[in-house]
Amino acid sequence: MSKHPCLSCGACCAFFRVSLHWLETSAESYGVPLALTERVSPHQNSMLGTGHANPSCISLKGIVGESVSCTIYENRPGSCRSFSASYEDGTVNSRCAVARLSKGLGPLQPSDWPAANGT
Ligand code: SF4
Ligand code: SF4
Repeated sequence: MSKHPCLSCGACCAFFRVSLHWLETSAESYGVPLALTERVSPHQNSMLGTGHANPSCISLKGIVGESVSCTIYENRPGSCRSFSASYEDGTVNSRCAVARLSKGLGPLQPSDWPAANGT
């Protein structure tokens, strides 16, 4: 594999509710587009499409498990920024594995990372 494994996954964007503090929609913060969120409490929003039984973030483009991208990558919420793929930093993220399993994908392995393949 020669590309980042998340680019052929996207499972976490179609599994969890993606919450953010409403301040994250401000230009001084991450600038998450307000129109792509919905209010869930006085101070909390969530990405549209993620607060339902079969979640899928409105900003997820592509086919989960094949080829995906985030259409607001530069302005994605903090929870997305802090969600690391397993072995990205050398550790296992069990939530990554759970999301992948829900889409019929096996857990990431160290060998899934480009650096492990010399690419
Ligand atoms: S904002 Fe982007 S990274 Fe975050 S859940 Fe949605 S598609 Fe995924
Ligand atoms: S579930 Fe894991 S591998 Fe898949 S996109 Fe999310 S962080 Fe990346």
